[in-house]
Amino acid sequence: MRKATAKVPYLEGKLRPETFEWALRHNAELCQLGPTDESYYWTFRGWWLDPEPGDLVIVEQDIVPPPDALYSFARCPSHWCACWYELYPTTEHGKDYSQTIPFGWGLGCTRFSEKLRREHPELADRAGELLVFGPEPDPDPPRVWWVMDMRLTMNISRLGHLPHDHGQARHLL
Ligand SMILES: [Zn+2]
Repeated sequence: MRKATAKVPYLEGKLRPETFEWALRHNAELCQLGPTDESYYWTFRGWWLDPEPGDLVIVEQDIVPPPDALYSFARCPSHWCACWYELYPTTEHGKDYSQTIPFGWGLGCTRFSEKLRREHPELADRAGELLVFGPEPDPDPPRVWWVMDMRLTMNISRLGHLPHDHGQARHLL
């Protein structure tokens, strides 16, 4: 079994008590992010390129993983694992609070293998770069937190990997 300490990035005042409890129970590393839009990116970049051995496991500030998540992550041969969670869909009029959609391509509760980190260090840059996807230019600035997950995971999927499903995490909506 591989060992990985889950990292819990959070913004000041935004760490949910249920996530904090989970982090304490699982000896996770709480990582307070700075207030800028690029803070998550630079923190993530350090994790991805960390010379210390180990998979990268991330649990975001408003997520509670299923009880066996770390156990199943540690035994999984996949390069990219995720617990999916519910989101409110965004429409042209804003968020639609009448329904939720399942989402498994974010960084809410995810594991990336050490091998993937080592063999593709360039993904640390890709997570901050504009995404070339279709004819429209990426409208978001480089290195901003709100599209970092999609920039990263779209590039991982281009390498032929898809997220391996480890069940549902609770999203504290
Ligand atoms: Zn897996």
